[in-house]
Amino acid sequence: LVPVGLVAGIALTFAIVSLARLQMSLPVALKAALRRKEFILEYQPIVDLRSGRWTGVEALVRWRRPEGEVILPDLFIPLAEQNGLIVKLTQLVLERVCTDTAAFLRAHPDFHVGINVAPADFHAGGFLDSLQHALRQMGARESNLMLEVTERGLLDPVVARETTGLLRRHGFLLAIDDFGTGYSSLSYLESLELDYLKIDRSFIEAIGTGAPTSQVVGHIIGMARDLGLRMIAEGVESQAQADYLRRQGVQYGQGWLFGRPMPFWEIVRHLEDQAAR
Ligand code: C2E
Ligand code: CA
Ligand code: CA
Ligand code: CA
Repeated sequence: LVPVGLVAGIALTFAIVSLARLQMSLPVALKAALRRKEFILEYQPIVDLRSGRWTGVEALVRWRRPEGEVILPDLFIPLAEQNGLIVKLTQLVLERVCTDTAAFLRAHPDFHVGINVAPADFHAGGFLDSLQHALRQMGARESNLMLEVTERGLLDPVVARETTGLLRRHGFLLAIDDFGTGYSSLSYLESLELDYLKIDRSFIEAIGTGAPTSQVVGHIIGMARDLGLRMIAEGVESQAQADYLRRQGVQYGQGWLFGRPMPFWEIVRHLEDQAAR
């Protein structure tokens, strides 16, 4: 017998929606969806490449329409950013992370949940307060939360230094996301207080292909090592990629090879099995 939750999870992950079927214009629909809280999270494991242990997850938002259709974030995050709705969405994501993971995090101080933070979240006042409020509600620690910020989100050097410094001093984990797709220089990154660097999937894809980008990943790894940053490789799909990354000294991986985004209860079940082994 296949558990209903699993079927729902798979349907959720693969459901594709025709945006044309939305009756309203998309920004209007999105705004209504925020009010009705039609958003859920899936969680993808982050894995220690040496031991295979799951050390954290990334929370990935999905818009689940009342009819059950699921819209993936690439379709609505840019829209939310353009329409001034992203700060509200991040709030909702934080709320959901609380309800999904609080009980687990209280018992697992070393485990981290990553949330994606948009540039506007940093610029909006009160972001630090809402993070701390969420943590208090969860009874979790600052080090349980990893904030994933893209290079694009750190374009303004003054704002970037101030906000990352502040969040870091408060004990939150900070990751630079989609690394390699922006234009950050080594000296710029050096001036920011970061914990993790997430190597963008486009570079992982190129490993072993002989394509010009396949040379780049080695440079990125060397650079991160020089900066003393821990690395998470995104989009690891094959054992050959994982082996290469491990040999190069990359500590963590995330990708379909280890696990697709899934409901948090499936994460917990895996971790319980892991602990029992
Ligand atoms: P991202 O931060 O780079 O997240 C990783 C994306 O890669 C996820 O797509 C994930 O499902 C996908 N992925 C993971 N492993 C593999 C793999 O092995 N192969 C392939 N082909 N893909 C893989 P997803 O869930 O569709 O999210 C897309 C983007 O939407 C994210 O990219 C992130 O930038 C944004 N996003 C997701 N959730 C949030 C959120 O709560 N807030 C904000 N602001 N942005 C979010
Ligand atoms: Ca991310
Ligand atoms: Ca990413
Ligand atoms: Ca990416």
